[in-house]
Amino acid sequence: MIEESLNRLSKSTFRSSFHLRNYMIRYIDEKGMDVVRSHAVDFVNQKLGVYNPNKDGKQTPMKNHPVFIAMHACACCCRGCLEKWYHIPKERDLTQEEKEFIVNLLMTWIKREYK
Ligand SMILES: [Zn+2]
Repeated sequence: MIEESLNRLSKSTFRSSFHLRNYMIRYIDEKGMDVVRSHAVDFVNQKLGVYNPNKDGKQTPMKNHPVFIAMHACACCCRGCLEKWYHIPKERDLTQEEKEFIVNLLMTWIKREYK
């Protein structure tokens, strides 16, 4: 599922245009992957987890945190993109399983970029 998603994303010119910047790599060096993962959990909960999240469609910045970039690269930036790419309906909260899938996808993308 994650492999298949990353493969699909790699065929999108827009999604594959996102990459970690040097300062984001340094941030990961400083904080460690476990901390970055805990931030991914928080961001997914806050920005995507509930039905009709605040500023949906504009809630994910294009800079600053490596997880934000991963959210754009993985089409997990807003509920509209989740619906379009992963067929997750907008009209409800995300399930625990969906949130875990998204976090695992984001972290797999980040680890590949980090190498
Ligand atoms: Zn989006």
